[in-house]
Amino acid sequence: MSVITSPGAPTPAVAAARERSAELEHLVARNPAGYRVLTGDRPTGALHLGHLLGTVANRVRLQNLGVEVFLIVADYQVITDRDDAGDLPATVREVLLDYLAAGVDPARSTVFTHSAVPALNQLLLPFLSLVSVAELERNPTVKAEAEASAAQGRRGTSGLLLTYPVHQAADILFCHGNLVPVGADQLPHLEITRTVARRFNQRYAAARPYFAEPDALVTPSLTVLGDDGVKMSKSRGNALELRASEDQTAAYFKRARTDADRTITYEPERRPEIANLLRIGAHFSGTSPEALADEVGPAGAGRLKALVTEAVVEGLRPLRARRRELASAGPRYVADVLARGNARANEIADRTLDDVRGLMGMRY
Ligand code: ATP
Ligand code: MG
Repeated sequence: MSVITSPGAPTPAVAAARERSAELEHLVARNPAGYRVLTGDRPTGALHLGHLLGTVANRVRLQNLGVEVFLIVADYQVITDRDDAGDLPATVREVLLDYLAAGVDPARSTVFTHSAVPALNQLLLPFLSLVSVAELERNPTVKAEAEASAAQGRRGTSGLLLTYPVHQAADILFCHGNLVPVGADQLPHLEITRTVARRFNQRYAAARPYFAEPDALVTPSLTVLGDDGVKMSKSRGNALELRASEDQTAAYFKRARTDADRTITYEPERRPEIANLLRIGAHFSGTSPEALADEVGPAGAGRLKALVTEAVVEGLRPLRARRRELASAGPRYVADVLARGNARANEIADRTLDDVRGLMGMRY
């Protein structure tokens, strides 16, 4: 897999987190059983190429290393910024099919839905008392979401959106997750989780800290752009879904935006759309974007798109075949995977909530 990070100098906090992450990778490789990962997605649509290259492949990698992975399908988070959640059961099923097809193994990883774990959600009440409104308002992701919602004429920030970092703390801490794979832009979120863990321990478990402060694992990953040249995202309608057919894949890359220069060169700053195609193509054909650019050169964007299509179609062939197989196995298989995941998540959450209430002097 090619490893590409975004261009530009990282901030000191990001540089420190990257350094710590490199160290963590060594620790995880030596003792995978000592780590529990919590990560997940909002069920706002089927997963796309950006998800696979940005996070899903990394989760499967961690799982296969022997790390215990918890995958939360964050259904309550869908309504942080929208009134209509759509057909959630259908969307959740699509997301699960994507996970399983990408290599998530339900025998080793726990997949669960947020709303199905009441004790996890109850942790929010004590946790909310541990952070101030000002701390939440300072969170850059909350700020960005609030600005985006205002710019798009949507309703103002909901209380749910404001408290999003605390929900994340509950999601991570209920299962004592100690490793959270994040993009560099999500580091502040994890800071609030660490703060909640620290303050809970100070207030209620000073003698013997109860929650460990989780570590961020900043993994170098690809940010994939959509066919319009903007970050690929479900809600922009610019995404290549993993479940797309080969014809849809070819049509997708055919319409992808490029630029007016004929000769293909890898210049991420000056030619972001071409660079994106080169990174995707290189990723799936096991080469580097530079080498792929040299190979295409004067043949131009048409040739590049043909090569990228071929590489993606070949690269996704096993995933898509497995997805079709799982989808045609009938609704029971996916439903059972989720039921087992929810049962396990509930067992752990009940235990954690019971401990928390005990520590808080609320066991009656
Ligand atoms: P929405 O449009 O509902 O926000 P989305 O497609 O942007 O959906 P998210 O649920 O916001 O997807 O993203 C989940 C995670 O997937 C992100 O934290 C990020 O790590 C990864 N991801 C999403 N889109 C991309 C992308 N284009 N490139 C790389 N990684 C991505
Ligand atoms: Mg998004």
